[in-house]
Amino acid sequence: MSRLIYLDHAATTPVVPAVMAAMQPYFTEFYGNASSTHRFGRRASVALEQARRTIAEQIGAAPKEIIFTSGGTEGANAALCGIALARRAATGANRIITTPIEHHAVLHTAFDLRDHFGFELTLLPVSQEGLVDPAALTTALGDGKEVAVVSIMYANNEIGTIQPISTLGARCRAVDVPFHTDAVQAAGKLSLAVAELGVAALSVSSHKFYGPKGVGFLYLRNGTPFWPLLTGGSHEQDRRAGTENVPLIVGMATAFTLAEAERATDGSRLKGLRDQLIGNILEGVDDVYLTGAHDQRLDNLASFVIRRVEAESLLIALDLAGIAASSGSACASGSQRPSHVLEAIGLTPADARGALRFSLGRSTTADEIAYVVEKLPQIVTQLRQ
Ligand code: PLP
Repeated sequence: MSRLIYLDHAATTPVVPAVMAAMQPYFTEFYGNASSTHRFGRRASVALEQARRTIAEQIGAAPKEIIFTSGGTEGANAALCGIALARRAATGANRIITTPIEHHAVLHTAFDLRDHFGFELTLLPVSQEGLVDPAALTTALGDGKEVAVVSIMYANNEIGTIQPISTLGARCRAVDVPFHTDAVQAAGKLSLAVAELGVAALSVSSHKFYGPKGVGFLYLRNGTPFWPLLTGGSHEQDRRAGTENVPLIVGMATAFTLAEAERATDGSRLKGLRDQLIGNILEGVDDVYLTGAHDQRLDNLASFVIRRVEAESLLIALDLAGIAASSGSACASGSQRPSHVLEAIGLTPADARGALRFSLGRSTTADEIAYVVEKLPQIVTQLRQ
């Protein structure tokens, strides 16, 4: 079995050649520190600001509203801590509103702000499909005066459910509460037009859209209260200290431009393959069901519960057959605890142990999907025996 099929694009994606080519000179030739006055520094600084403009333009932001980060985890930490602490200092607002299905980058930060910094925390309920009810947000917001920040993810990394972000954003704007969305899984797949989304902050990670790992950006609407997480330099207009990683930032801007250009065509192609995969698995495997929303779902993500199998064994068997999949989030696999996302949408621990996620990407072909659909029922039958 020489064929290898990568269906874990929600965990990470390969860097495409155009992105490698764009980054390369900034490692070896134009390696200056973007803060230096000399020509090496100026060259790096020009590239940095060009990348900032490129990204800003594509999400309808001003360049100075883009802060470069080390990725999605830092973006979420900076948004939650930075906004909650600054807004509380300015207004006394002491409540954080989020959901129980957030990535741990948001959820653990919210728990820390509650446990170590005295914030009150509201976790909005989600439906079985993983959807937040805008009416529940409206109720939790009240007149907004008590609320420091709201954070609700754009699309879920385990079950692919897409939240009605513009509706939720409008509710927050109506009472003047800063709204952050973790757009890590949405970037390159859904529109990040910040004005339409009504967000004050939005965090993104480059390695989910064929850019390098360890870099991302945080959009922060002008005027949003914010204290920097990292201090010690005036980089990023005093909002994120540390020498900018120019090669990775250039790579991210290139990858984001490519992803935005191909978003519509990529999306409809993957949606076709995804639906083929879902239909065939639901038909071909006994005792299986789809998790997450049917319609409000990422085009590239199919997630299931396969009852009476352990995800870990299933992943190993799939890997032996040359198929790379996941049981949920890459960060959670390996820990024996059932996923907090599956728990929050009402799955029993026994069912949650049979979670399987396929996430498709640019390299995915109809042939590959056909192979998975043929192999999976055989593997499940063997494991159950
Ligand atoms: N948020 C979501 C929804 C994610 O899926 C991930 C990564 O899987 C992150 C945040 C963290 O991003 P990063 O890996 O860039 O730190």
